[in-house]
Amino acid sequence: MIDFSKIKAVFFDMDGVLYDSMKNHETTWVECLKTAGITFPPEEAYLNEGKTGLATIAYAFEKYLGKTAGEEEKKEIYAYKTKLMADAPTAQILPGMQELLKLIQQKGMTTIVVTGSKQPTLVNKLSTDFNVPPNHIVSGADVKIGKPHPEPYLMAISKSGFNANNCLVVENAPMGIQSSKAANIYTVAVNTGILNNQVLLDAGADELFNGTLELFENWKKQLQ
Ligand code: MG
Repeated sequence: MIDFSKIKAVFFDMDGVLYDSMKNHETTWVECLKTAGITFPPEEAYLNEGKTGLATIAYAFEKYLGKTAGEEEKKEIYAYKTKLMADAPTAQILPGMQELLKLIQQKGMTTIVVTGSKQPTLVNKLSTDFNVPPNHIVSGADVKIGKPHPEPYLMAISKSGFNANNCLVVENAPMGIQSSKAANIYTVAVNTGILNNQVLLDAGADELFNGTLELFENWKKQLQ
């Protein structure tokens, strides 16, 4: 059970936490990596979720072609992925999340979005959809290393101005959970994808909800 009286900031991952966008990432990863001759298993999109796009491409080259991707090659593939994402169906907001962020903000807590993504289709909507302004976003454009390294969540802690033990993280991906735990933040997993709960617990999640609605209903009781 979380003691909300000492929580001052809540950090939310974006894909698979705020937006139902992982299906689009899955199909566009498979599609863009085909151009390099890589057959990327769809599950890999979920296992590698949270990494920066360029890091995922580097990983796919190493694992499935046994070679190192060139810088230009990586940029070209990522540009193609960005185009495919822009053409993909609009990702819907996950149930309860607008209400949850509103409630948290009304309680005076800071909300920060921490994503490995640079996809403008969603990052640019965070202000309108969730009242999270650009200076409360750590995106793939801000980090050097990215998840699962603690860097992105350490940046969020610093942005918030609070200590790790006054912060909370909501994540859906194993590498996001590893990143948050490495930054010493209490981490709540929401399983909105195709991985088994155990994968998220093994990554270090402190607690787990089966979907965003279950998270909202549970926190609502404690926050109201
Ligand atoms: Mg995610």
